[in-house]
Amino acid sequence: MSLQFAEHEYKIVGLYVTRLLCDRAIEFAENDSTKITDPQLLLELRDILETQYQDGITAIPQAQLNANDSFSGIFEDRVDSKLTKRFKFAIAPDDEISYSLVNPSDVEEFADSLRSASHRASLDFVAQKKASNCTKGIACGGSCISAKKTCRKNADAPTKKKIAQVRTKVKAEGSSSKPQKTKARTKVKAESGGLREKIKKLRGQYQEQTDALRKEYDAAKAILATKIVERKTQTRAEQKRFIDAEQALLAKEIEYIRQRDKLVTQELKKSYKDPQPQLHHGMSESEDMWSVEHEGVRYHSTGSLDKNHPLIKAISLDVEENDPLPKSLTRYTSDVYFSSQRNRDDKYWEKTYNIKDFKSAATGGNGSVVYYNGGSSDRGTLIHEMGHNLATGRYGATAPPESSNYIQAAIKDGDHPSSYGRNSRAEDFAETARMYHTSPDLLKEKSPLRYQVMKQILEDENFGG
Ligand SMILES: [Zn+2]
Repeated sequence: MSLQFAEHEYKIVGLYVTRLLCDRAIEFAENDSTKITDPQLLLELRDILETQYQDGITAIPQAQLNANDSFSGIFEDRVDSKLTKRFKFAIAPDDEISYSLVNPSDVEEFADSLRSASHRASLDFVAQKKASNCTKGIACGGSCISAKKTCRKNADAPTKKKIAQVRTKVKAEGSSSKPQKTKARTKVKAESGGLREKIKKLRGQYQEQTDALRKEYDAAKAILATKIVERKTQTRAEQKRFIDAEQALLAKEIEYIRQRDKLVTQELKKSYKDPQPQLHHGMSESEDMWSVEHEGVRYHSTGSLDKNHPLIKAISLDVEENDPLPKSLTRYTSDVYFSSQRNRDDKYWEKTYNIKDFKSAATGGNGSVVYYNGGSSDRGTLIHEMGHNLATGRYGATAPPESSNYIQAAIKDGDHPSSYGRNSRAEDFAETARMYHTSPDLLKEKSPLRYQVMKQILEDENFGG
């Protein structure tokens, strides 16, 4: 059974769901929890959950160990291309395993659609893959319960033992990967500033040579332009002088770019790490990624990181601009991942935001950023996602709470800093962070109070926000 909404109603429901998600994020983050990201630990957690969820778990996008020794998070079962069951789960301190569907209406709708002949083929495929699939509801122990119910089972003795082992391992690893709430990391290497200095010096060396070549090019071009105005024929020698000047200038600029990228690559190689499997945010499966560190942020990407790699190009350009991102912003982001995969939550956000064919470029939150579809860093997007991490660092969630200075300022400002900012409070905040850096005058004009609060947040570590 599915509910039908008119478009305007759908928009309201969409926003409400966003609010719920934001609230849930707060609920997770306010506990003093340790995020579980280690792939091995996630596999062990999957085995534990599968003692009850016997249909097979395809992903655990979020998991943490809370201060009271309980686990919580989200797991998923990708049934087929049309349906991924998404569950909120908890393992209580007494080892009771419970989970419920986040998207029960999707599951019911899917079960309805299976009755029509057009989907028979996919049903057969599902049946082949997983004989025990509980299509209409939730797999719970050996049985299948309604999509709206919560499965609750106590772990058996061997599983209790496994749960205890995972708790111990998370605690042992956790101390190093614990998310910082207000305490910012002190990292930023001294060498990074050195790289900017080196590039500046290199640019200076080439500047004199390119300036001379540009003068010659401009002079040759001016002669041709005059001839055109005076309707006179250009001589072969004049044309040759122009082409030669243009090519010499171009060659010198290409030489500089090559030298610059080589210098950046050499510098980044100092922090180079061999491929590690990475699985974050909306990625569906792990990808092996090389990594390098740049100004306190670790960048991870597939493919060998030579000077032709898009990531090296992006960092080179960033260095070239000689306009480093402020530490007050980057300190809340430890890692940036470049994935070739599409965000598997795109369909969900398409519905929630009511934006047709929504394709996310990147996602932020919990101190990291993931780019999708093989995209490489663009400054505006990177700052937007870092804005989500800034919010998480300050408020414990991507959405600033009602009582915050930011939301109070936003209410007084009215409207939104940009149209994308309309989607939720979290996006409103991230867009303000982006515009503060990329188009400060526009932000000041459209949302003066938001601008002031963002300025205080970035300049004063002790400002509540
Ligand atoms: Zn965003």
